[in-house]
Amino acid sequence: MESASSRILDACDFAAIKHRDQRRKDPCKTPYINHPIGVAQILSNEAGVDDIAVLQAALLHDTVEDTDCTFEELEAKFGDEVCKIVRECSDDKALPKAERKRLQIEHAPHASREAKLVKLADKLYNLRDLEKSTPEGWSEQRVQDYFHWSAAVVAGLRGVNAVLESYLDEIFKRHGAL
Ligand code: NDP
Ligand code: ZN
Repeated sequence: MESASSRILDACDFAAIKHRDQRRKDPCKTPYINHPIGVAQILSNEAGVDDIAVLQAALLHDTVEDTDCTFEELEAKFGDEVCKIVRECSDDKALPKAERKRLQIEHAPHASREAKLVKLADKLYNLRDLEKSTPEGWSEQRVQDYFHWSAAVVAGLRGVNAVLESYLDEIFKRHGAL
């Protein structure tokens, strides 16, 4: 069995290669990989999560949704447990965007504890990004809609980590979404 640090670094390296051509939507066009790294950091540094499979899944959570990566590839490289968490955190790309957003709200309460942790940290990271700067082309209304939609998803993820929930609640209060 590989060491915990090797498993983390392997997931980080794999995700960095998969996301190598992507940028975030912020005006500085931050390399995309900073987002999954940041989600794993939130879980480890702020939420006290030390489950290696959860931290690996955080690093890998957008690889299938946003790159050519497949679940088969993840399962072969990182095993069934990590693959299952990433699967729970991935939207079905075949569906229209509005339907995917509706399903995130509907599916949230049924996710595993591990997937709920990754989803909470993912929302927290994206909302902190939005508080720092507005993506190019986004209206105030679109930003506001994103805070409200996130609050509806987070409502179904509660009960797995009080720290993450309290940080999210502070953000939602600032934006009238709670
Ligand atoms: P999107 O789903 O289009 O974008 C938000 C996602 O982008 C986040 O969930 C995050 O996903 C990723 N992301 C990358 N960079 C950032 C960043 N700097 N800050 C925050 N998130 C970032 O957002 P909407 O919900 O607004 O749009 C949904 C659909 O509606 C889209 O098809 C959009 O084009 C359309 N639309 C909506 C409008 C509105 O007023 N709501 C107006 C015009 C179009 P990840 O964690 O996966 O990286
Ligand atoms: Zn994400």
